[in-house]
Amino acid sequence: MSENNTIFGKIIRGELPADVVHEDDHVMAFRDINPAAPTHILVIPKRYIVNTLTADSDDKELLGHLVLACAEVARKEGLDGYRLVINNGESAGQTVFHLHAHVIGGRSLSWPPG
Ligand code: C5P
Repeated sequence: MSENNTIFGKIIRGELPADVVHEDDHVMAFRDINPAAPTHILVIPKRYIVNTLTADSDDKELLGHLVLACAEVARKEGLDGYRLVINNGESAGQTVFHLHAHVIGGRSLSWPPG
């Protein structure tokens, strides 16, 4: 995979600050700078993956770990329910091209999303 020059790559390398709420060897979670809800946390893999469309079977374990980390983050935030969103590609609203899962909660959420 090519060099990760995204904002999230810089956060992982410690070149940019972030309000980190959870971290292990494989994932990092930090508060979104423009929160859409009282809890809005981004959970990212440390390995560079652009989005699920570019992920492959080598990423299977990591992506499972990422989803479970999202639930752990939600529990730590005291949420009894939350929305997990991954925007994949520009047409779906992805603006940072390093895979990230949005953990969104703390208010009532409507469906379908915009
Ligand atoms: O899914 P999408 O790519 O649109 O989400 C990117 C998210 O990253 C946005 O919610 C934005 O507020 C957040 N962001 C951030 N810190 C940055 C740059 C973007 O939390 N430095």
